[in-house]
Amino acid sequence: MQRRSFMTAAAGRLAALGAFGAGGAFAATAPAAVPQATAPKARVIVIGGGMAGTAVAKYLRLWGNGVEVTLIERYPKYVSNIMSSLVLTGQRTLSSLNYGYDALKTRYGVKVLIDEVLAVDPVKLTVKLRSGGLLGADRIILAPGIAFDGFAGSYDPKAMPHAWQAGPQTTLLAQQLAAMPAGGVAVLTIPKAPYRCPPGPYERACLLADWMKAKKPRSKLIVLDANPDFVTERDNFSQAFFGLHGSVIEYRNNVEINSVSSSLMTLYTNGGAVTGNVINLIPAQRAPALVAATGLATANGGRFAPVEVLSYASTLAHRVHLIGDSSATTQPKAGHIANQEAKVCADALSRIFAGGKPDPAPVTNSACYSTITRSQASWLTAVFRYDPVAKAMAPVANASAASTGWDGDNFEEMDTWFKALMADTFA
Ligand SMILES: Cc1cc2nc3c(=O)[nH]c(=O)nc-3n(C[C@H](O)[C@H](O)[C@H](O)COP(=O)(O)OP(=O)(O)OC[C@H]3O[C@@H](n4cnc5c(N)ncnc54)[C@H](O)[C@@H]3O)c2cc1C
Repeated sequence: MQRRSFMTAAAGRLAALGAFGAGGAFAATAPAAVPQATAPKARVIVIGGGMAGTAVAKYLRLWGNGVEVTLIERYPKYVSNIMSSLVLTGQRTLSSLNYGYDALKTRYGVKVLIDEVLAVDPVKLTVKLRSGGLLGADRIILAPGIAFDGFAGSYDPKAMPHAWQAGPQTTLLAQQLAAMPAGGVAVLTIPKAPYRCPPGPYERACLLADWMKAKKPRSKLIVLDANPDFVTERDNFSQAFFGLHGSVIEYRNNVEINSVSSSLMTLYTNGGAVTGNVINLIPAQRAPALVAATGLATANGGRFAPVEVLSYASTLAHRVHLIGDSSATTQPKAGHIANQEAKVCADALSRIFAGGKPDPAPVTNSACYSTITRSQASWLTAVFRYDPVAKAMAPVANASAASTGWDGDNFEEMDTWFKALMADTFA
C-alpha cells in the first residue's frame, strides 16, 4: 500500500476515483489482519466512527507499526449521509446505506467500543464513557461530526426535519414528501456556510424538483438560501434551478429565518412568512457539544475547532487531533475530504510515533457528484496543497474542475465513486 498514492491526486474526476481504487477494488485486496504489538509504541483513542474516524483508525493500524487504536462510536452501524437524498425519492433504502465495524476489528485489529463519549480532558488525555469507564491515551482524535442549531419559536424537528444526518429524519422527510398533495408547496432551507456538504442542499433541491414533476404535478419547491449566492458549482446549479427546474423551483437568496411555528408549518423570515406542506429545515451547524466543552472550538465564532493541517492537531491542545466536519479548515466539510484528512492525520502520527515529523507538504483532493435529476449528475473536483506561508491547505491553481452540464454517465460514475470511498473507509 503506497501511503502517498492515497493522498495525492491529479485533477479530474477519474483521478479522484483512482484515489480509492475504482469500483471498490480495495475491498478485495485488503490485508487479512494487522498484528497487535505486545508492547504498543503508542495508544490512540478515536472518537466517532463516521467517515473521518473510521478511516483514521484503519490507516493508523496499517501505517502505525503497532500503534494500539481504540475507536469509540455511539451506534453499532453507521448510516451514510452520502447518497441519502436518494432515499427521499425512493431510489435507495436507508438500509442500503448501513456500514458496520467488523472489518475494522478483524482485518485491522482496531478495538471498537460501542459507547458514547461524555467528556474529553484535552490536558490529561482522558475520555469519559457513558458506560462508566475512564480511558487514557497518548493521543486523542476527535471525529464526532456536527451538531445542529435550534430556532426561535415553536421548533419541532419532527414537523420540519432536516434529514442532514442520515437516519430516522431521512425516513420521516421521505414519508412527508410522499404524503404531500399534488399542487403542494415544499420548502427547503440552506444555512449559512460553512455547513456539511456545500453542494448537498442544491443537489437535493434539483433531485426533489425532478421527482415532484413526475409524482406531484403542479407542486412548487421554495428554496430559502441564507447565503448571498449558490455556495458552490454556480454554473450547473443556476442552469438547473432557473432553466431545467424553473417551473418548480423558486429560489430566494439572503434569507434569514427569525423564528418558526411548527404547528402552523410557517417560517418567519426577513422576507416575510413562508408556509409549506413539507418543510425541510436545515439548521446552521457547529461541532458537537463534546468538542465545545473541551474549549477547543474557537473558530468560526466558536462553532468549529481550529487545527494545524500538517497533523490535524488542535492549535490549542497539541496531542488532541480533530478531523472531519468538526474541524475548521479551508477545505469543504465533506466525506471525501474527511477521508483525506484522516489519512494525513494517520500518516503524521505514524511518523511522529517513529520519532519523525509530519510530512511538510501534504496534498488532499475532493471529488463530488451532484444529482441534477433522478438519473443525471454533474461533478466537481478540487486539489489542495499545504501553503507554508498561510499554514493552510490552499486550492491548487488549474487543478480544480467541474463538468459542463450533467449526464447519465456521471450518475453511474457517482455510484462507482461512492462504493470505492465506502470500501476504502469501512472494508
Ligand atoms: C444529504 C447529504 C449528502 C452528502 N453527500 C456527500 C457527498 O456526495 N460527498 C461527500 O464527500 N460528502 C457528502 N456529505 C457530507 C458527509 O456526509 C460528511 O461531510 C461526513 O460524513 C463527515 O464525516 P465525519 O466523520 O466528520 O462525521 P460523521 O460521518 O457524521 O461521523 C461522526 C460519527 O461520530 C459519532 N459520534 C458523535 N459523537 C459521539 C460521541 N460523543 N461518542 C461516540 N460517538 C460519537 C456519530 O455517531 C457518527 O457516527 C453529505 C452529507 C449530507 C447530509
